[in-house]
Amino acid sequence: MMRQYLALKDQVPDALLFYRMGDFYELFFDDARNAAEILELTLTSRNKSDPDPIPMAGIPHHALEGYLRRLTEAGKTVAIAEQQAAPPGSGSKIMERALVRVVTPGVPWSPDDLDARQSCWLASVHLEDGKVGLAFLDLSTGELRIGEAESEAQAGQELRRLEPREVLLHSSIGEGSPVREGLEHSAITSADADWFDARAARTQLCDLLGTRDLVGHGAQDLTSPIQAAGALLTYVRDTARVTIRNVCRLTVMQLGGHMSMDGATRRNLEILRPLRGTGRRGTLLHHMDRTCTAMGGRLLREWLSAPLTACEAIQHRHDALEALLDGRIRRQVRDRLRLVADLERLAGKAAQGTANARDLVALAGSLRALPGMADLLAPLPALCARMPEDLVDDVTKDIEHWLVDEPPAAMADGGLIRQGVHAELDEVTQLAREGKGAIARIEAREREQTGINSLKVKHNKVFGYFLEVTSANIERVPDCWIRKQTLVNCERYITPELKEFEEKVLGADERRRAMELELFRELRLRVGAQVGRIQVLAKAVAWIDVIAGFSELAIDRRHVRPTVGMDLSLRIEGGRHPVVEAMASDERFVPNDIELGPEGRLVILTGPNMAGKSTIMRQVALIALMAQVGAFVPADAAHIGICDRIFVRVGASDDLAHGRSTFMVEMSETALILNQATERSLILLDEIGRGTSTYDGMAIAWAVAEAVHDSLKARAIFATHYHELAALKDHHPSTRNMQVAVSEWGERIIFLRTLKEGSASKSYGIQCARLAGMPADVVARAQTLLQDLEQRRQYMMPTPQLALFGRASADPEPAAEEHPALDALDSLDPDSMSPREALDALYRLKDLCP
Ligand code: ADP
Repeated sequence: MMRQYLALKDQVPDALLFYRMGDFYELFFDDARNAAEILELTLTSRNKSDPDPIPMAGIPHHALEGYLRRLTEAGKTVAIAEQQAAPPGSGSKIMERALVRVVTPGVPWSPDDLDARQSCWLASVHLEDGKVGLAFLDLSTGELRIGEAESEAQAGQELRRLEPREVLLHSSIGEGSPVREGLEHSAITSADADWFDARAARTQLCDLLGTRDLVGHGAQDLTSPIQAAGALLTYVRDTARVTIRNVCRLTVMQLGGHMSMDGATRRNLEILRPLRGTGRRGTLLHHMDRTCTAMGGRLLREWLSAPLTACEAIQHRHDALEALLDGRIRRQVRDRLRLVADLERLAGKAAQGTANARDLVALAGSLRALPGMADLLAPLPALCARMPEDLVDDVTKDIEHWLVDEPPAAMADGGLIRQGVHAELDEVTQLAREGKGAIARIEAREREQTGINSLKVKHNKVFGYFLEVTSANIERVPDCWIRKQTLVNCERYITPELKEFEEKVLGADERRRAMELELFRELRLRVGAQVGRIQVLAKAVAWIDVIAGFSELAIDRRHVRPTVGMDLSLRIEGGRHPVVEAMASDERFVPNDIELGPEGRLVILTGPNMAGKSTIMRQVALIALMAQVGAFVPADAAHIGICDRIFVRVGASDDLAHGRSTFMVEMSETALILNQATERSLILLDEIGRGTSTYDGMAIAWAVAEAVHDSLKARAIFATHYHELAALKDHHPSTRNMQVAVSEWGERIIFLRTLKEGSASKSYGIQCARLAGMPADVVARAQTLLQDLEQRRQYMMPTPQLALFGRASADPEPAAEEHPALDALDSLDPDSMSPREALDALYRLKDLCP
């Protein structure tokens, strides 16, 4: 048996092998150790008496699904070997076993094992001659997408956006490739090169979609993405051993049509995950999710990961949202949506042949809710256009015609099919029922004839129907009864008559059950064949659900419709941080105005610790993001000039796992921003240059701010402790200084949370330390030291000369007065001057001096 085990294990060396033995799946060797740790199983051993026993762990077969879910969530792959019926006459004593499925993070056992509000993408990336092909498949919903990325970085961006559970990577994608960046939530599987074979990929795709070529899907020329899709299909077929039946169309993705955000920005904004801890609390997703259906929940996730950049598309969502602000319609629409189960996954199960009767009834119940919803939306042009004409009514009717309203969970006992829809079935059912009636009559008659009142006709699998008599009454049993079994206090008998009826009843009952199953399977096949139509409908429902949820949120949290445009400004009046506002309990959230644009696109934001700088910055980013996602925003009014990228670095964090210090992380992230940002980007940087010596840090912060202002010309907010940076404004006209106001009260500070013009003149670090509970003597000592240091700094200040000729001034005092020589000097172009002209210019400059 172990030899057989090892032979199977050889075929799936990277998977945990679940080896079926009777009622258990057993794991051996390292698999047992690994699984025992993840699943908290007891580790035992086989052949305990051996000097070297084999480690072993097992799970009961009926609990398979739960264990699979936990293992795949932990990024593991599981192979399942089942016992096979031994070939007749083989005489072998050992049960044959065969691999039936390989369950991987991206190819789950069943959609029921998945988080309903999260897609389950299996992705694949192909790279050849600089062309990057991407393919995504969600087997739970039957969605298949392909697209071509311009670069590995763009491919990485797309992967981060969809967060696949598993990614197949072509061998040419090396360790350092940007494709791999931010894939910490995905299991990585290295793919065989021949899975990407171009010709095989095309054939597989055409076979899957039932077409001759891919022209109709607009994918004919997308060779590299087709190769990526080919790898996916090969992997699902050959490795996972699953036949795909629920994929009906191929979507070609337009990459780059979305606002892009790098991994750090997504993390910092806590869009889908909180910075600390797990779960969803505190995230933008959690705050914004008012969807009623699982499909809506999945779509919202996707939207938040990919805000739009085309004004028209954004306004279209805003229009639809606005149309649902009418409370009566919105409530009714949402009431309908609550009746809709997961259409995509239910239809997918029907197509894959794994749906049970309850699934189909749930599907019909969901479809039943849609005509009413379409009627409600009919007067709203922005929404009704979304609903397809085809509401798949025939499928609803088909299911409702055949299945009872509440079928049992287990299908083997029948009770699935309605009475009166199938004459032959009704007949058999009647027969079975009559037989049961006859048996009840035999029981009554025998009681009377024998006078044994406690006599019972019972049934079990071994003897079929039998008569049971308690030991006290055995005397009265007639001779013609045949004794079958003696128990502690009763005896069991059969009679020829009983056996005759039994045959009728059991025969009829068995036929009834078989017929019901057969009819059910036929129905499931018919429904499964319509999966494509149901998918279209499901997409529409998801869209309406997300929009209705946005509308609900807007009313609930007093959000307003922002305007969007292709200009480069960003104006927010009375803006609030959506999540902090909702979570704040003891402090009222103070709204703030802010404007970034041609008049002042770089804001230097100062204010003490805890004043609210990070909150303001995140709030600006979140408001822009929400507007571009198509939602309303937490403000009194807002205008968002479309942002192509948002970069948010608020609060640096060590990346010790990769051996990089806070400062290194910050510098490489800043480098990335400077290389990638455009005039249309929004950059929010907190405390840049903090992790090194003061002057070092200040110099870096200054230089970065200058580059953002002069070269990138992006909209940006720099929050900084270095109030010296306020002097940037003197030489960089599109800079504004703002501060989060505090007021001093004796030695204490009071946070006002309001944003106003100007810059803070000090850092209030010591006051903050006192607030944080630092012992009084340490605070007092710090105060003395600060005075001392400040006095010394007076001597170390750069000379006014530096401020005059250099571009930078680290001087906290007002900048030196403008000198006419400066203007003259500025207008000179040494490269185009002759020596004579240069000498003349020098004389003129000299004359300007007193
Ligand atoms: P900083 O970045 O200046 O150190 P934070 O932005 O982290 O400060 O804000 C500190 C705390 O102040 C936050 O925990 C938040 O709850 C609260 N806060 C910030 N802004 C506001 C506001 N506008 N209204 C009310 N509370 C605020």
